[in-house]
Amino acid sequence: MTAIERYAAPQNLDEALGILQQGEVTILAGGTDLMPQTKAGRIAFKPTLMNIGRIAGLKGVTLDGEHLRIGALTTISELLRDPLIAQHAPVLAEACDHFASDQIRNAGTLGGNINNASPAGDTLVPLIVLDAEVELASKPNGSVATRRVPLAEFFTGPGRTKRAANELLTAVRIPLPKPGHVARFYKFGTRPALDISTISIGIAGIKRDGALTEARIAYGAVAATPVRGRSAEAAIEGRRLDDDTIETAANAARDEVSPIDDVRASAWYRKELIHNMTRRMLDHVAHA
Ligand SMILES: Cc1cc2nc3c(=O)[nH]c(=O)nc-3n(C[C@H](O)[C@H](O)[C@H](O)COP(=O)(O)OP(=O)(O)OC[C@H]3O[C@@H](n4cnc5c(N)ncnc54)[C@H](O)[C@@H]3O)c2cc1C
Repeated sequence: MTAIERYAAPQNLDEALGILQQGEVTILAGGTDLMPQTKAGRIAFKPTLMNIGRIAGLKGVTLDGEHLRIGALTTISELLRDPLIAQHAPVLAEACDHFASDQIRNAGTLGGNINNASPAGDTLVPLIVLDAEVELASKPNGSVATRRVPLAEFFTGPGRTKRAANELLTAVRIPLPKPGHVARFYKFGTRPALDISTISIGIAGIKRDGALTEARIAYGAVAATPVRGRSAEAAIEGRRLDDDTIETAANAARDEVSPIDDVRASAWYRKELIHNMTRRMLDHVAHA
């Protein structure tokens, strides 16, 4: 394991990006993933450990034109209590309500959950169905450069993302929901609380006259990354949510996921859960 040669605690974004630009930096936010992973030897610290916790500009939830902007350092507890999240993205708060314990929620951040890039990360599926994008900042030539990536395209494998080593995830942006917007999240674990997802599902769209448009479906813990359910989405897009449509979508959902067998569940069981829960959630949306 590489020894830490330098500990940095920048006070602002500019300073943090300057440190990142020098290379070989491990970013520390709440540490609830990083510390157990380094202790277990699963990942090694880089020579510089940079604690971003003091950067005030990375905290909190604000309205930014037609978007909700959530700073990367916003904790899971803060998301649960935030009035803007309750008003514009309640499905995210719902997911946070199934997340770990109070102690972990108080320390764990949204940016950490996203960058840890676990296929079972609880905020990822609701954010994907809300069409969230991540904001990445870097300072390649002495001035700050920012780019945005849709969250659905951000993950490249377990623990891997499109973030470059010199970039910091600064915020998540969610378009404000249109009238008629509905969103649901479901997490199944083997215990009712304090459990990693066996599977999770998010569903969203605009409900009008019994039909769903701009349909979004995403699954967690059924592939190497959280994934959009494009076949199930196509099965419901613009159609009345009657029994036939719902069953067709639930079958498409089961057929498009390729989960693995592991200690939490067999692949077969996960596929059945995806089918049954997609059907149940669409039923709820239809009758809401
Ligand atoms: C007991 C326990 C229970 C848990 N339960 C759950 C659960 O129910 N659901 C769930 O989803 N997760 C769970 N977790 C995982 C963890 O708590 C979350 O993923 C948490 O949100 C991580 O945030 P953090 O601030 O602690 O990240 P850290 O551990 O500080 O960082 C995680 C990773 O992200 C990187 N990183 C952090 N912030 C940034 C940034 N702004 N830009 C770029 N890279 C960054 C770090 O370098 C590191 O690689 C649990 C963990 C523990 C220990």
